[in-house]
Amino acid sequence: MNGGYCMSKIHCIGVLTSGGDAPGMNAAIRSVVRAAKYYGIRVMGIKNGYEGLLHGDIFEMDARFVSETMQRGGTILKTARSKEFKEIEGVKRGINEARYFGIDGLVVIGGDGSFRGAKDLCENGLPTIGIPGTIDNDIPYTEYTIGFDTAINTAMEAVDKIRDTASSHSRCNIIKVMGRNSGNIALNVGIASGAEAILIPEKEIDFENDIIKPIEQGRNRNKKHFIIILAEGVKTDVSELEAKIQEETGIETRTTILGYLQRGGSPTVLDRVRASEMGVRAVQLLKEGIGNRVIGVRNNEIYDIDIFEALSAENNTRYDLIELSKILSI
Ligand code: ADP
Repeated sequence: MNGGYCMSKIHCIGVLTSGGDAPGMNAAIRSVVRAAKYYGIRVMGIKNGYEGLLHGDIFEMDARFVSETMQRGGTILKTARSKEFKEIEGVKRGINEARYFGIDGLVVIGGDGSFRGAKDLCENGLPTIGIPGTIDNDIPYTEYTIGFDTAINTAMEAVDKIRDTASSHSRCNIIKVMGRNSGNIALNVGIASGAEAILIPEKEIDFENDIIKPIEQGRNRNKKHFIIILAEGVKTDVSELEAKIQEETGIETRTTILGYLQRGGSPTVLDRVRASEMGVRAVQLLKEGIGNRVIGVRNNEIYDIDIFEALSAENNTRYDLIELSKILSI
C-alpha cells in the first residue's frame, strides 16, 4: 500500500455518509462536491451509506445539488447501517459497484464503525479518505468530530430550560445525554451548565463523593437546583439512581432523557466551518492520489493521519474536564 499513498491520478470521487447522522454532515458533503468541481474532478453521491454502495444507489452530483443544504441537519445523502458490508464479500462487491460507476476514490463521512469499513475498502484497493462525523466525539485520534458542537449546544440549551423548572421547585434533575461509550458530551454539557455531578463511563462512580457530597455542598450554599449529567454509556439503572438520591438527600429527584433531539438541528458555525475544511482537505488528498487516510483535528488544527494508525489511537476523553468540574462545583 506504500504508506497509504496510491499515487495514481483520481478522476471521479464518490461520497457517502454512514452510521449515525450528525449536524454538519451536509456541510461536509457540500464541501466535497464543490472542491471536486473546483479541481475538475467528477463527483458521485452514494445514497444510504455502504448499503447504497452495495446496491449501486449512486448518482452524479453537480455544484448546484448541494445549494441550500449547509444549514440543514441530518444528511441529504441519507445514512444506513449495512451488515453485509462487514463481510469481505460485501466489501469486494462495494468496490466492484464503485468501479462500475467510474469511482476511483471515496470519501466516507461517519463514525469509527464507518472508518472500519473504510479501512477494509483501502485494504482491498479503493483509495478512501474518512471524515469524522458523529455527535459523540468518540473517535480517539481526533479532538473533534462533525456534529459534536451542535449536539452539546442543543443539550446545554435543554439543560438550561430544565434548570428553570428545577430551580422553581428546588428539585434535583438527572439529565441523560448521548455519547455512546464516551463521556465527552456529558463533560462539556456538565461544565457548561454548572452541573453538581457529571457521570461518565470512563470513570467509576463513587456515589457518596461524586453525587451526594456536591449536592449537599450546593444546598449549604443555598442552591435551589441540582443538576446531574449522566452519560448514556454509564451502566446504571436510572430510576434506582433517582430513588437513591432522593432517599439520601430528601430532595425530590426527576430524570429527563434528552434522546434524539441532540442529533438534530441546524449546525453551529464551528460544525459548518470544520466540515468545510475537512471536505476540501479530503478532496485535495485524493487529487494528489493519496488515499487511506482520515482527517481530524489536533491542537485545534485540521490534520490527516493514516487510517490504520488512526484506528489504533487511545481514547480522546477530556479527563481534565472532570477535575475542572470538581473545582467549580465546591
Ligand atoms: P458509526 O460509523 O457512526 O460508528 P456504525 O458503527 O453503525 O456507525 O457503522 C456504520 C457502518 O459501517 C455499519 O453498518 C457497517 O456497514 C460498517 N462497519 C461498522 N463496523 C465495521 C467493521 N468492524 N468492519 C467493517 N465495516 C464496519
